[in-house]
Amino acid sequence: MADDCIFCKIRDGEIPSEKLHSDDDCFVIRDINPIAPTHLLVIPNQHFAELSELGPEPNPAFAGMFSAARAMAEQEGVAESGYRLIINQGSDGGQEVMHLHMHLIGGRPLRGLGLR
Ligand code: AMP
Ligand code: ZN
Repeated sequence: MADDCIFCKIRDGEIPSEKLHSDDDCFVIRDINPIAPTHLLVIPNQHFAELSELGPEPNPAFAGMFSAARAMAEQEGVAESGYRLIINQGSDGGQEVMHLHMHLIGGRPLRGLGLR
């Protein structure tokens, strides 16, 4: 847990935010500044700032994050129309919140690869 991490605080209920989903691996909230009708954040419970903090072995939380993303896409009604999963990694990747997370974006045609 990083003391100043906004996503750790949301995870722990110190900052109120509706959790659309929560399990042993991850939780899901709506992005506060959405770029599409569906814009969710799939956030691992375990705090690690970025991928480079993980060891070389596979992290089981990632499998859980993809399962949660798939279920949330169904729930949001974008599973058939399609959606995009994005992890912004590090400075050039455009990462702003240093607690690794995956964006789930859909509900309109997405062009290009950028978030904004
Ligand atoms: P990234 O550039 O991948 O680090 O994206 C961070 C995302 O977190 C941005 O899309 C922000 O809009 C979003 N965000 C920041 N603070 C909050 C918050 N308190 N609740 C929900 N989303 C947030
Ligand atoms: Zn954190």
